[in-house]
This record gives sequence, C-alpha cells and structure tokens, in this order.
Amino acid sequence: MTTAPWHATILTLYPEMFPGPLGISLSGDALGRGTWALEARDIRAHGLGRHRAVDDTPAGGGAGMVLRCDVLAAAIDAAAPPEDPRPRLLMSPRGRPLTQSRVRALAEGPGVVIVCGRFEGVDERVIAGRGLEEVSIGDYVLSGGEIAALVVLDACVRLLPGVMGKVASGVEESFEGGRLEYPHYTRPRDWEGVPIPDVLTGGNHGAIARWRQAQAERITAERRPDLMRTKQD
Ligand code: SAH
Repeated sequence: MTTAPWHATILTLYPEMFPGPLGISLSGDALGRGTWALEARDIRAHGLGRHRAVDDTPAGGGAGMVLRCDVLAAAIDAAAPPEDPRPRLLMSPRGRPLTQSRVRALAEGPGVVIVCGRFEGVDERVIAGRGLEEVSIGDYVLSGGEIAALVVLDACVRLLPGVMGKVASGVEESFEGGRLEYPHYTRPRDWEGVPIPDVLTGGNHGAIARWRQAQAERITAERRPDLMRTKQD
C-alpha cells in the first residue's frame, strides 16, 4: 500500500529559499524518497500589472510596505482550494508560539500550507478571509517568514515515519512529557579530567533510567520551570 506523502506548500516571494537546508541530511533524503513533498510557490505570480506588484503602502501611514490581501488570496486560492484539508499557517511574530505538541499534530496530519510574510506583514483581512492561523517561532522579529517556515518544516519532517533512524529518539527528547532532555555522553571515557558519570557505564539499566529522569527534572526545574507547570500527557 502506498500512502500520499506529507505535503507542504509554501507561499513566498522567494521560492528559491526552499528546500534550502532541508534538501540535506535526513529531511533531504526523505524528500528524495518521497516521504514528504514540497512545493514552493511564488506569490509574485499573482502580482498586479506589468511589475507584478504584491505590496502597497500601509493605510493610515507609517513605515514599510504591506502585502496586499487580493494578491495573497489569489496565491492561496491557486495553491489550496477550500476543500484542501491541510492547516494554513501564516508565519508571524504575533502568532501563537510553536510548540512540540503543535508540531506533532501537524506531522500526523496530511501536511501544511504556509504563507511567508515579508515587509511589515500582510493585510489583516486575508488572515480571517482565508482562515490563516498565525504561528510564531519565538519572541524576536525576522525579516521574512521563510526561515520560520523552514523551522516548522524541519520540526515536522523529522517526526514523519521512517525519517529518523531510531524511533525512540523522537520519544525521549526535550519537551516530550514536559521535560528537557537529560545530558548525553560518549567516548572518550575521560576527557580533560572530566569522566562520564559512573552510572552510565555501570550497565544497570534501571539505575540509568532513574538517573536520566532525575537529571531531566533538575535541568527543567533550573532552566524552564514554566514547563514543569504545564499539563503532562
Ligand atoms: N511588522 C511586523 C514584523 C514583520 S517581519 C510586526 O511587528 O509584527 C516580516 C515577516 O517575517 C512577517 O510577516 C512574518 O512572516 C515573518 N516573521 C518575523 N518574525 C517572525 C517570528 N518570530 N515568527 C514567525 N514569523 C516571523
């Protein structure tokens, strides 16, 4: 049986930025195998007039330019008809911060449509008009949504079945279960006078699991007490 690949459609003024770094390593191999599909569409193809204008000055005045709602809506309609079941994200510093649980939900679905903003952002009317969900990758401002979209895709693609070598590595990681991950070590056993903790080389798997759990709790409490308070599921 073949299943449809997880399908990402990106709307951008810079389609040449895709797949970019996602064409390399695990995500690139998976793209080559057809585990996921990527289509980067140029918003400018729907631009107006001889110059294919996509932006205009902000109503009410002020600095910068705003992506036009009519141009963006035409680009979205051409890429994803209303019956397309995929969530439609708009990368935006005003959006709900991306979390691992949102990433997991996206990865379990059919794919995603992502609109990348530029300039000062997009005309507000297209957000509700085309059912866009604003998503932020953090409390800082990027110059465009493309790198944010690559972040979303990278986080999703590594969770697709068969992309990561070892399935377990997706389950024990930071944020899964509301904890940051425990520390890792590998050879050499002693490095610059610092040994690998004895418990990890002692072969007692129960003791190792308890030590890792305790370390994860300690690191989370120290660095991200907010995660400790969130619901465990
Ligand atoms: N004037 C806007 C910032 C525009 S930055 C404001 O103050 O909110 C230009 C584009 O970059 C945005 O439209 C968005 O698509 C993208 N972008 C910037 N920062 C982002 C972030 N933290 N997360 C996701 N997308 C971001």
